[in-house]
Amino acid sequence: MLEVSQALSLIKQETPAPQVITSKVGGSLVGSILAEDVTATEAVPAYRASIVDGYAVIAPEEGSSSAGIFPVASVSHATPGEIAPLKKGQIARITTGAPLPPGATSVVMVEDTVLKSTSEDGTEEKEVEIVASDVKSGENIREIGSDIESGSVILRKGDQISATGGELGLLVSVGKVEVRVYRRPVVGVLSTGDEIVQHDRPGPLRLGEVRDCNRPTIMAAVRGWGFEVIDLGIASDTSGSLEETLRAALRQVDVVITSGGVSMGELDLLKPTIERQLGGTIHFGRVAMKPGKPTTFATVPVKDNAGADVRKVVFSLPGNPASAIVTLHLFVLPSLHYASGVQPAGLPRVRVLLSHGIRLDMQRSEYHRAVVTVGKDGRLWAGSTGAQRSSMVGSLKSANALLCLPTGPWDKLGRGEEVEALLMGSIRSDL
Ligand code: AMP
Ligand code: MG
Repeated sequence: MLEVSQALSLIKQETPAPQVITSKVGGSLVGSILAEDVTATEAVPAYRASIVDGYAVIAPEEGSSSAGIFPVASVSHATPGEIAPLKKGQIARITTGAPLPPGATSVVMVEDTVLKSTSEDGTEEKEVEIVASDVKSGENIREIGSDIESGSVILRKGDQISATGGELGLLVSVGKVEVRVYRRPVVGVLSTGDEIVQHDRPGPLRLGEVRDCNRPTIMAAVRGWGFEVIDLGIASDTSGSLEETLRAALRQVDVVITSGGVSMGELDLLKPTIERQLGGTIHFGRVAMKPGKPTTFATVPVKDNAGADVRKVVFSLPGNPASAIVTLHLFVLPSLHYASGVQPAGLPRVRVLLSHGIRLDMQRSEYHRAVVTVGKDGRLWAGSTGAQRSSMVGSLKSANALLCLPTGPWDKLGRGEEVEALLMGSIRSDL
């Protein structure tokens, strides 16, 4: 039986390296990792632009005042097109973001001016007084390239395009249409077991039937992480059915996640099918942890559509729903991260304080489902979700963390003790 850390090293070692592809710049990039440094091929702003609403002026020489009454020669709105040059002794109305008329050196904000006269029909400004006396060259102007310099590196290889918007904002601002990113693996999700029925099968369950909990939950979690998911349905507990389903799956996806069929029962056929029928390698099939002991990780050699030899990844998770979700987060997520270039891989690790005592398992390290919140003291506090039996998917309701509970030497950790936690979801704050 492997320790969790050994299992994670094997996952790192055996997950195929990320492939580089060219992707269109747009919303679908969110979640992708750049496989190249990206250089701005355009400057932002592309022209000298006003930062305020006001009047474009020509700053006087050092020592003389900029104040005075000036004729308003033109209006520059934030619209493309030609603008008449500004001559000495003139000013021009200008709006935020609009291009500076050629010849202008600065912009005086409207608050520092007084309207003196308008055209006969009252629609146009004729003369405006500049009240500010010390206007300097360059004032209230965004110079060309002052936000993003043309030729500068705006994003680095390894940066992730987040949903927050900054990275995509940089790419689109400079007119990038394509970037090189790591391809995200396509994931297939399969449930196994003769007793498992479609979750929405109408009518009451017959004796021994179980509604498929794992496939919908695993698919939703993997989708939530930003990966494309394919529904592989439910395979029955016969070697033929499993082999056929897996073979077909390995042709269309990069990673197969199965659940069930990995405990030691007679009908637990996954390992032999992967090894004997598919010629795969089981890298581990038992992990010293609770829940999730039978978690299995394998790779299978296949030919891709172009006839090249590639390796596909198979995770066979325990059938019990809580075990399946815990091991999905603990083992499958890092593999998907390695395959798509995300670093660091896996769930973020934080230290939390226990809001109550928790019993420890003396034999296996436990991944205890918990709710972590930011307490009034600004620290992270964790409370158990309650009973942790591996069949109880309810132990994951509201859970946003897995507490990494060590084995002994004590049988209990008390309130206020610090433990490591893996964050699965966002944290509520009581601050
Ligand atoms: P197994 O590993 O196939 O022996 O399954 C362990 C337990 O998990 C059994 O009680 C199964 O009925 C249950 N189980 C397996 N797959 C699922 C599933 N997709 N949804 C809900 N329970 C499942
Ligand atoms: Mg089964």
